[in-house]
Amino acid sequence: MKYNPLTAIFPGSFDPITNGHLDVIRRGTKLFEHLVVAVGQNPDKDQLFTKEERVAMIRELVADMPRVSVESYDCLTVKFAAEKQAGAMLRGLRNLTDVEYEFQLAMTNRTVAGIETVFVMTSEEYGYVNSTMVRQLALLGGDVSKLIPLTVYDRLKEKIRQNHATAKPDVPE
Ligand code: ADP
Repeated sequence: MKYNPLTAIFPGSFDPITNGHLDVIRRGTKLFEHLVVAVGQNPDKDQLFTKEERVAMIRELVADMPRVSVESYDCLTVKFAAEKQAGAMLRGLRNLTDVEYEFQLAMTNRTVAGIETVFVMTSEEYGYVNSTMVRQLALLGGDVSKLIPLTVYDRLKEKIRQNHATAKPDVPE
């Protein structure tokens, strides 16, 4: 397979992107010449923002990082990596639970596609942040402003407001 060892993809759902993801992106730019943030969909997770919305939010946040690009994909992650001729996949680690899951994923991807995974540890302050928790907290009215970038926080509040406005009443008609 033809690939560029200086290019990596950072795949994830980013629904929405958190300060933890951004931390991984910043660390990734120290390791790779070109980083493609690859916005996909995890079939095990419910989607709040559309892929287009997620891509737009991330593009805004990395606008000052010339070596980072953002794209969405629908195929298998390893296939997307091959399309980009990426030499590696970048993933973030928060805790031991991540290690177990990511280990399986990395071994599988290496076995089926021969691609390596490079891990970076997040900074301690973001070690507990994950998108699912951010979504759930925000939906229940919790303050998630310290966990996600301000622009994302504003969109999240707006999205929840829209969802409430269009939600069907719980009581039978
Ligand atoms: P996926 O559904 O594919 O796991 P996510 O968007 O949840 O997608 O996560 C993408 C990657 O970012 C994963 O490697 C995950 O471990 C990592 N990640 C998520 N949140 C953080 C965080 N707070 N610190 C470090 N890495 C994180």
